[in-house]
Amino acid sequence: MNTPANNSSWHALNVDAEPLAREAVEYALMEAGALGTVTNEVDDGQTRVVGYFENIPNREKVRAELFEALRIYSLPSSSVREMTMELIDNRDWLEEWKKSWQPVVIGRFIIAPPWTELTPDPEQLVIRIEPGMAFGTGTHETTRLCLTAIEQHYQGGSFLDVGTGTGILAIAAAKLFSSANIEACDVDADAVAIAQANAADNEVGNQIKFWVGSINDASPSADLVCANLTADVILPMLRTLVNLTCGKLILSGILDTQVDEVVNALHTAGVSEVQVTKDGEWICCVV
Ligand code: SAH
Repeated sequence: MNTPANNSSWHALNVDAEPLAREAVEYALMEAGALGTVTNEVDDGQTRVVGYFENIPNREKVRAELFEALRIYSLPSSSVREMTMELIDNRDWLEEWKKSWQPVVIGRFIIAPPWTELTPDPEQLVIRIEPGMAFGTGTHETTRLCLTAIEQHYQGGSFLDVGTGTGILAIAAAKLFSSANIEACDVDADAVAIAQANAADNEVGNQIKFWVGSINDASPSADLVCANLTADVILPMLRTLVNLTCGKLILSGILDTQVDEVVNALHTAGVSEVQVTKDGEWICCVV
């Protein structure tokens, strides 16, 4: 992927939406090919998400992605108000984009972009992630819920990260236990390449085995299995996830409106105890 610095100007697509639709719009713009997004509050209580594109974005594609994202998040199409486009100078956006990425502290972990200077405490574990390339920069509730659950429940041994994105969860596991045996997969080959590069940048590249694809009943089992996917992806593979788990299973990417469905499916798969944690409208199940 091109880094923002390579371009002299960018096409900024401004989308004004209800604050509740913020995540859905950010997701849709990334799916439509934006290389990054910046979100601000605007005057009338609306949220403005700006997507930065290298080339003029195709409005029909953006509209289709917005429609799909709103559907996934169960939001009415009226939650998106307006789209406007402008051409902007590289420097403006690069600076604003960099400023929009502040380090995030989650338990012992500090997730930070490569350019921020940090003075961590001795017990803190720093994870450097280049933002805007794949899902998993530490700002999303589901990633945060998973990191908290990993810190609480992972006691070393084997670890399997299903849907690794930037590799953040696998890298976190490697930082917690340097002797851990970690595997991570993603159906998106670009995500796997990014995750591998992030693992190397975090000096845990030789601890994690990455592969492109998903899991099946013949995949390696693990003491801790983590799957931060969406409920519609998790549900059909729930039995496989449970089968591959020797110790604990962490599931997220689930909206609180979907919790009953997931917990019922877990009961059907033979699981009796499920611990549910919540952040905003997102939940995480630990089995
Ligand atoms: N683990 C990261 C990223 C989660 S986003 C975090 O917690 O922040 C979910 C990722 O799962 C995406 O990168 C997507 O490409 C991948 N994915 C979607 N369906 C999948 C499947 N069936 N098997 C494996 N990966 C999948």
